[in-house]
Amino acid sequence: MSSDCPFCGIVAGEIPGRIVGENDHAVAFLDANPMAPGHTLVVPRNHRERLADATSEETQAVFSLVHGLAPAVEAAVDADGATVGVNDGSVAGQEVPHTHAHVIPRFAGDGGGSIHVAAGSRPELSDAKLDEIASEIGGASNDE
Ligand code: 5GP
Ligand code: ZN
Repeated sequence: MSSDCPFCGIVAGEIPGRIVGENDHAVAFLDANPMAPGHTLVVPRNHRERLADATSEETQAVFSLVHGLAPAVEAAVDADGATVGVNDGSVAGQEVPHTHAHVIPRFAGDGGGSIHVAAGSRPELSDAKLDEIASEIGGASNDE
């Protein structure tokens, strides 16, 4: 636990949070400043800054809650869909350094965009470069 982390505080019950789901290694609660009604965050119980800092078991617990809750969140607010994602690292927009998945309900005509807008414009990449990147990723995966 990190003493100055709001999400650790919610997991420990020391900070009020509207908890909507939990399992052995993860907790889900409503976002305090939601992008949409029903905006839900799912965190590992342990303080892990980045997604890759969480264990495989913790990551599975987080995404198991995401999988189970996404339809419940949508149904609760009568949404038409959801954007599910992780801002992994400050450059990606992560503000709270305790990794978390967002489930953001989406509504027809809500004016939001797709996750494709997150990284700006698409780069031009040759087939050779794509092959090189695929090889690098495959060789470096930390999957347990
Ligand atoms: P990030 O930019 O790190 O991916 O998103 C952090 C999210 O956490 C934001 O949507 C913000 O509204 C939410 N948040 C920040 N502090 C608190 C808090 O103390 N309680 C809850 N429930 N949500 C918080
Ligand atoms: Zn924390």
